[in-house]
Amino acid sequence: MEDSKKHQGLRRQLINSLREKGIDSEKVLSVMLKIPRHYFMDQGLINFAYQDQAYPIAADQTISQPYTVAFQSQLLDVKPEHKVLEIGTGSGYQTAVLLGLTSKVYTLERQQELFKKTQHLFNKLNLRPKRIVFGDGYTGLPDAAPFDRIIVTAGAPEVPKDLLEQLTQGGKLVIPVGQKEQQMTRFTRTSKNSFDKETFGTFHFVPLLSDKN
Ligand code: SAH
Repeated sequence: MEDSKKHQGLRRQLINSLREKGIDSEKVLSVMLKIPRHYFMDQGLINFAYQDQAYPIAADQTISQPYTVAFQSQLLDVKPEHKVLEIGTGSGYQTAVLLGLTSKVYTLERQQELFKKTQHLFNKLNLRPKRIVFGDGYTGLPDAAPFDRIIVTAGAPEVPKDLLEQLTQGGKLVIPVGQKEQQMTRFTRTSKNSFDKETFGTFHFVPLLSDKN
């Protein structure tokens, strides 16, 4: 894999366009400037890697739009000491962005094909999440909980209770909630049994699948 001058130039333009669209976390933008998104895309789509759009990956899933990755990462407000759980590893691109913000990243994927493919890619790119797990995001990762931050990268028809329970005090969950379209939602744990809820507009994600599907 190669990160050519052309790719780097296109990436710089993409990052500038994200800034124009309102992304103002310089930390998130500088991390995204360093990550070759084309490494995470199917061979045939590499020329589109620096368009601000979602594209198909394996198992009928998608790599999220760069604006969405930036927006969710910004809402998540990751500090270097934070332990972060990602639900929906997919292509691994969002995971790579999280790894630019903290070394303590755990990620969960329920499609076997993607889990294997992306695990292999991480090895090749020398990206080292603490754990990459083949499992169901509805139940989170109880044996590694609690997490300071949890990000869900698929549309959840309802908010999984287990994820709220796996947050630290002051911890945040960023999750798109809804069936056909989703409201970007951020929960902040304010005590054992109470959560603040904020919403940030409408997005479109592939569905968070339950085990029955
Ligand atoms: N962050 C990824 C987004 C991929 S799309 C990227 O940018 O590439 C959402 C991902 O969530 C898909 O890979 C899908 O297989 C996965 N997913 C869906 N339901 C899930 C569940 N219940 N548990 C874990 N992962 C799930």
